[in-house]
Amino acid sequence: METDEPAEALYEATDTLVLDVGYQPVKIIRWQRAICMSVLEKVEVLAHYAWAIHTVNEAFPAPAVVRLLTPLRLRPQVVRFSRRNVYIRDDHRCQYCGEVFGASDLTLDHVVPRVAGGKTSWTNVVAACRPCNRRKGGRTPEQAGLTLPRPPSRPRWSPQALLPRVPERVPDAWRDWIFATP
Ligand SMILES: [Zn+2]
Repeated sequence: METDEPAEALYEATDTLVLDVGYQPVKIIRWQRAICMSVLEKVEVLAHYAWAIHTVNEAFPAPAVVRLLTPLRLRPQVVRFSRRNVYIRDDHRCQYCGEVFGASDLTLDHVVPRVAGGKTSWTNVVAACRPCNRRKGGRTPEQAGLTLPRPPSRPRWSPQALLPRVPERVPDAWRDWIFATP
């Protein structure tokens, strides 16, 4: 059956975007795997890349977008805890001053500091800019006179979290499927 791709996996321009039966993006896989799924008739190919895969006898265009032919099994989807996913959950916004930053200017802040037993988890870690992180230091928000807009929580799974948010970094063949809004 399917293996879960890590949520922060980097895609390559040769990777294949997978849609569910309802044409919603669900994951990004290696093209080799897309070929296998196509051969096994698990998917239909909706878009191709301009380059082709050559076998001894023939050449066929590489799959850029495929659609699953059977519904996904319903199961709880878990968003892995990672730096990138915390930033996405918090909209790249420092949770203390409310400003938006690039990933390189954000840090992970332990709401309850580690020295006080705070865990590295969805419910105790937020995105914070460097000045706010420094200002807070090893204190709780209350002690530092800072407030959180909401208690941090585990995000619900979203296929969008898997996908590159920057349009220029998306293969052309994917665009219609990722950025089209119903
Ligand atoms: Zn800040």
